Amino acid sequence: MYLADYHIHTKYSFDGYEQIEDICNMAMKRGINEIALTDHMDIFSDKPYESILDCDSLYQDIERAKIEFDGKLIIRKGVELGQPQANPAESRKFMEKYSLDFIIGSIHNIKDDIDVYEYDFKQLDCNEVYREYLMCLSELTVNYNFDVLGHLTYPLRYIYQKEHKRVDLKLFEAQFRELFKKVIERGKGIEVNTSGLLQPMNEMMPPLSIIKLYKECGGEIITVGSDAHKIGQIGTTIKQGQELLKEAGFQYITIFENRKPSFKKI
Ligand SMILES: [Zn+2]
Ligand SMILES: [Zn+2]
Repeated sequence: MYLADYHIHTKYSFDGYEQIEDICNMAMKRGINEIALTDHMDIFSDKPYESILDCDSLYQDIERAKIEFDGKLIIRKGVELGQPQANPAESRKFMEKYSLDFIIGSIHNIKDDIDVYEYDFKQLDCNEVYREYLMCLSELTVNYNFDVLGHLTYPLRYIYQKEHKRVDLKLFEAQFRELFKKVIERGKGIEVNTSGLLQPMNEMMPPLSIIKLYKECGGEIITVGSDAHKIGQIGTTIKQGQELLKEAGFQYITIFENRKPSFKKI
């Protein structure tokens, strides 16, 4: 099975730790054929993008790794672009300056630059938070530049972690259908983020029911990523993620070069 881990954070992310070389060695050790390094470029309403990520050093390091691991591991230059709508001008400046292989469009902050993981869900209507989250994903999809939408059920991870509650995704089926229609119309895709498997929620983001719905809506572009922030997480759950895609009816995973998707048989 061709294995591609398309969501990995290096030490350049504010919450990352690992050297690129160590990540590449671990990926090879785990039998991964291809990785995309996708550090956080979170967009804030009041901060220049340069203050979030040292892009010049990061992308130079990736270029060096591409040469060092040539013929052994395919390394893609990516980013996890968080809520570009928080400051469209900053997001545009970043996008114009760097040419990348792959962009995950994510939402971490629904509003006021506050990450969902900081929410006190006891004081909130969890369904309402998730409805808003999907609306932000929809706005990102229609108006911004990316390749796949990241971790579609991100708030559910924290709702479960903090309140031991599971949101009933059936309530959101119509909203998902609408979102997927827009994603597909724009020629974009979604990711299966496997990090939830190693966390209390113990499920992929999104889970099988939503991956099946995406397929039913005509979705074809889909990547699998561990969202590893530490070396031990690299590639551990990728095979499971790809197997889940198979279960949902997909025969291919998607990989990207210079923002162009191509497909590898699962
Ligand atoms: Zn993320
Ligand atoms: Zn991430």
